[in-house]
Amino acid sequence: MSSIDTLVTNAKLYAAQFTAGGLPAPPATGVAVVACMDARLDVHSLLGLADGDAHVIRNAGGVVTDDVIRSLTISQRLLRTTEVMLIHHTGCGMMSFTDDEVKAQIEADTGLRPPFSLEAFAELDGNIRQSIARIKASPYLPHRDAVRGFSYDVAEGTLREVTAPLELPPTPTGARTAQAVAATGPPSQRRTDSSGIRNDLPMRTESSRPACTSR
Ligand SMILES: [Zn+2]
Repeated sequence: MSSIDTLVTNAKLYAAQFTAGGLPAPPATGVAVVACMDARLDVHSLLGLADGDAHVIRNAGGVVTDDVIRSLTISQRLLRTTEVMLIHHTGCGMMSFTDDEVKAQIEADTGLRPPFSLEAFAELDGNIRQSIARIKASPYLPHRDAVRGFSYDVAEGTLREVTAPLELPPTPTGARTAQAVAATGPPSQRRTDSSGIRNDLPMRTESSRPACTSR
């Protein structure tokens, strides 16, 4: 008996007790969850979701790929969700390798190098922020205001929100806060576009250009 045979037996027991046949397809909470496929992350139990409450879109890493954007597009435009909740987690397998090394291994095994990105990442909070930014940058999604990212601790069972960093990276003229740029920078030199992506990069001007590139 395979493991799937056991699961099919479980499904027959489930059907015998099933009472949720009248639920509408649009999620009751209006929320779409994008989460890693990790077996330790039980999204419904963690968030207290019942049948019919939310869309749950999962893949390795909870990465916002083109296919996740496809699912979110259908979720928002056809099934009326308006909020997106991202859940990554500690101990994610996607932090244990690099794209290049696994692609090289697959190429050595099969003679074919995968054309797709594996989307491995080295830092959890940064990857969550990248995922938020990708959703906010998508022109296909009508609802991009309520996008929030979280890290689930697989050892503690706790959920922690990851917010956007306020500090800008150092520039040749010194580090400035996002608020300082918003307060002092002229509109033509701000990168505060509606997408919310890469707006933390300082504009390069003549006065701030490093000497080695101004020749
Ligand atoms: Zn994971």
